[in-house]
Amino acid sequence: MAAYDPENIFAKILRGEIPSTRVYEDEDTLAFMDIMPRADGHLLVIPKTPCRNLLDAAPEQLAAVMATVQKMSHAAKNAFEADGVTIQQFNEAAGGQEVFHLHFHILPRHEGVSMRP
Ligand code: 5GP
Repeated sequence: MAAYDPENIFAKILRGEIPSTRVYEDEDTLAFMDIMPRADGHLLVIPKTPCRNLLDAAPEQLAAVMATVQKMSHAAKNAFEADGVTIQQFNEAAGGQEVFHLHFHILPRHEGVSMRP
């Protein structure tokens, strides 16, 4: 697996070098809006420490990120009056990953409404 690249977009968002709409932050994690939402309320959750993807994650990074994923899933479901929530996560280019800093997608879902491509 390739090394972590500190110039990836989410690392720049963490350092405040490029703007983002932050919705939640704690000592270990950040949640912000996806710039090309595939559902209303599409959020991303990332660890604040370097991590390329799930295959590269330490257990404590995963524990912190998943706690925030659960918290944000409740918040997004309530805020968008959703019927459910889809969680997505991609690893390496072959697995669909485009930004190489670990992230989980949170997609509020409504009955009968497809996600946008
Ligand atoms: P993935 O790596 O999970 O396939 O896709 C990366 C996700 O990051 C995409 O959903 C894309 O819309 C989002 N994204 C890419 N660049 C930016 C950015 O500069 N700001 C924000 N907020 N989201 C981004």
